[in-house]
Amino acid sequence: MSDNATLSSDAVAIADRIGELLACMRSAEAELGALLVEIEQRGVMELFGYRSVARLLEHLGDVPKQAGERMMKRARALNPGRNLDGSPIPALAPATGVAALAGRMSTPMIDVITEVLTQVPPEHQTSVEVDLLTFAADAGHRQVAALGARILAHLNPDGAEPDDTEPANPTRELFLRRKRTGVWELNGRFDDETGTRTSALLDTLAERRTSDDGPDHRTLPQRYGDAFSDAVDLALNSPDLPMQAGERAHVMVAVSLADLKTGVGTATLGDSGSMSAAEARVLACDSMLIPAVLGDKSEPLNLGRLRRLISAGLRRALYLRDRGCAFPGCHRPPRHCQGHHIRHWADGGPTDLTNLVLMCAHHHRLLHRSDWEVHIAPDGLPEFLPPVFIDRRRKPRRNNIHEPLPCAA
Ligand SMILES: [Zn+2]
Ligand SMILES: [Zn+2]
Repeated sequence: MSDNATLSSDAVAIADRIGELLACMRSAEAELGALLVEIEQRGVMELFGYRSVARLLEHLGDVPKQAGERMMKRARALNPGRNLDGSPIPALAPATGVAALAGRMSTPMIDVITEVLTQVPPEHQTSVEVDLLTFAADAGHRQVAALGARILAHLNPDGAEPDDTEPANPTRELFLRRKRTGVWELNGRFDDETGTRTSALLDTLAERRTSDDGPDHRTLPQRYGDAFSDAVDLALNSPDLPMQAGERAHVMVAVSLADLKTGVGTATLGDSGSMSAAEARVLACDSMLIPAVLGDKSEPLNLGRLRRLISAGLRRALYLRDRGCAFPGCHRPPRHCQGHHIRHWADGGPTDLTNLVLMCAHHHRLLHRSDWEVHIAPDGLPEFLPPVFIDRRRKPRRNNIHEPLPCAA
């Protein structure tokens, strides 16, 4: 055999091996996606104490949150879902899901196909998916995207309908309604100027999306939802907030001391609502919510309310020490943060620097719900012990992001 022939047979073998490895990776990724969707359906909160699968992946596998969210979006499109009542929701792209499991689909190809299918009327989705997949067998994702654009133009020759339903009436209306399930619905309409300001506020608080991700219809509302919750916290923390009877605005919640200590049971919220005692424990931690603590016979207990409120001076000292959320890797600045009592005041923990840690709302909740733990190290700074499933030795971790850069000194 000549040298040239040896080389080319080597090249063929190498190319074959690359193909095999890529198929392996892609098939494993599809299998992982199915598992992640299953975790989401069983409840990532119930299983791991994390608010989203992307957050879990971030800690479990060092997967950046945005990459994790893209992974989830892709997996949801390929795998069947389930409604809250358990009834199945068919997958958007089931045949693409089968091809992905067999290791035949690149991630950009999957994204191109699902992106086209989300814009196709439901009655045409199956046939369009078959057309795209057939074409994809011998083409790259850019060619498939071009075919998809032609199919969409054919199905809807006039393009999207112009949005002329917006009323010219500049009134501002807001409907906030609590449903029996404890889920709240927000609806409203604003004039252009208020809407623009609201949008600017939420955009600032919502985490950035990557530019090559394309329009993200599923996770944008989720990001806006989180941003809205942060905006409410910010407003409640603002010194300009009008006082109610000489106090910071707060939500009344009635909870028994036993339930507040254990976090098991139900608390009565406002006039009509209820929340879990675990959630009341988180909110009461920084006195974001001032609980009416009840004894065994539902009699109000006086638990030294002033002692557990974090004074302005103490809050400043906490800001200076922690400089922002103290959770490892978190960027949130002090104004987004709450004071966490390491030993809850309901359990007799003092309200002072040795028992307080500054945390953003997200990490504060995570700390209360998961197996993460925090303590103050001998040098007076907080450090966090990860759950066993992240680090078997539970080696303490610190947040060094808020430390001033050496060159900035
Ligand atoms: Zn707390
Ligand atoms: Zn944080």
